[in-house]
Amino acid sequence: MEGDWTARLLRQAAELAIRYRSELPSRPQRPLQGYAEALAAFDGPLPEDGEPGEFVIDELATRAEPGLNATTGSRFFGWVIGGSHQVGVAADWLTSAWGQNSGNHHAMPSAAAAETVAARWLLELLDLPRESSVGFVTGATVANFVCLAAARGEVLRRVGWDVEANGLFGARPISVLIGDDAHTTVFSALQFLGLGHDRLVRIATDGQGQMLVEDFKRRAEAVIGPAIVILQAGQINTGGFDRFADIVPVARRIGAWIHVDGAFGCWARACPPYRHLAEGLDACDSWATDGHKWLQTPYDCGYAIVRNSDAHRRAMTIAASYLPPTMEGERDPSHFVPELSRRARGFATWAIIRHLGRAGIAAMVDRHCRVARLIADRLRNDNTISVLNEVVLNQVLVRFGAGEDDERGDELTRATVARIQRDGTVFAGGAKWRGRDVLRISAISWLTDEVAGEAAAEAILAAWRSVGETTR
Ligand SMILES: *Cc1c(COP(=O)(O)O)cnc(C)c1O
Repeated sequence: MEGDWTARLLRQAAELAIRYRSELPSRPQRPLQGYAEALAAFDGPLPEDGEPGEFVIDELATRAEPGLNATTGSRFFGWVIGGSHQVGVAADWLTSAWGQNSGNHHAMPSAAAAETVAARWLLELLDLPRESSVGFVTGATVANFVCLAAARGEVLRRVGWDVEANGLFGARPISVLIGDDAHTTVFSALQFLGLGHDRLVRIATDGQGQMLVEDFKRRAEAVIGPAIVILQAGQINTGGFDRFADIVPVARRIGAWIHVDGAFGCWARACPPYRHLAEGLDACDSWATDGHKWLQTPYDCGYAIVRNSDAHRRAMTIAASYLPPTMEGERDPSHFVPELSRRARGFATWAIIRHLGRAGIAAMVDRHCRVARLIADRLRNDNTISVLNEVVLNQVLVRFGAGEDDERGDELTRATVARIQRDGTVFAGGAKWRGRDVLRISAISWLTDEVAGEAAAEAILAAWRSVGETTR
């Protein structure tokens, strides 16, 4: 019977997922095998004949699990990666089972409605202008792209050029001002938009990767014609914030569109003790942020938020005779994103916000920031370890071998990162900051709490001690 089989298959998937999640606390905080082994596990000739569904799902789990990185565990501090909260995962399962295509509200009313309401909640949580429109995209990369497409269209429209219709050929050049430590995906977004990733006015930054206000002023004064200024809330390494209150008035004077990449940093606004970091951020024109980082939605989910909703719509317009027209005051999800057919991301966003509430989200951000400070304090206690950034949010940059020369410090830091990963109690990755090797710790996964923070500090100290012993 088809119905029985569907039930069996979906229950099987649920059981496999439940088992995986329940085994996480005892599983090393890293993949158990690498890409080559994973490839061998999945590889095989194109199947000529089909196989039973239950068998295939079982095979999938068996082959995938050793190569899974336990990002949803409490001791995962790698990159800046959220923990796929279980309520979001449950909502996401339903989203898949319902098979909705969230292009327009006539065809899929609930998908569009959940998005409309979740969009309003997001604006309240982040305290951004309530008239803004919100596009539910794959992540902050595409959110940056969408926001900057709106920016490009609007600054050229103001000088009498319709870029949506005529493209960039023959248009006035746009000056794009960006901090030297902007996230690499913003440069990609500029590349996709024909604005170029090198044709930019780059602003010098301080030790936290924040724009130097004086350098910004000097360069802004030299700008003539259409301009876009790109600011940042939450530098990917340090967690630093551009000084919105000082920069925005200057950017306004030159008539620039002001965009903010706030993939995780925007969420400081949802947590009163950290809100001051992003003071004045709401005076900008567009904001890119992620659901799958601090809000803990499952992958993929990001939000493109644009104050001038007409500019947002113009940049993303899709029109076809078979698509019903949108009436005044109605919102179609596809108006604000590049795609037509798309996953209904509003369901998981709506469910997580309902589950955590404003207070729960604030408490989570606060907890993660406390964990970051706790780890930084523990490590700083050892005078052979230095913390390179000011820990203002959830990011910690650590260097081992304080007092050694630069090359030796790099070597010791890389060895310690490798040791930490091999040990598998915690996962944190290496990075380069100001040309030197660092261990980068990001406290942002749902399950991460003080207990995990203490365990992380212990594991990092133990790894450093054993590196010290073997290299001395
Ligand atoms: C993660 C991140 C991005 C890219 O976001 P994705 O969700 O990976 O597309 C952009 N900017 C910053 C500051 C980030 O932290």
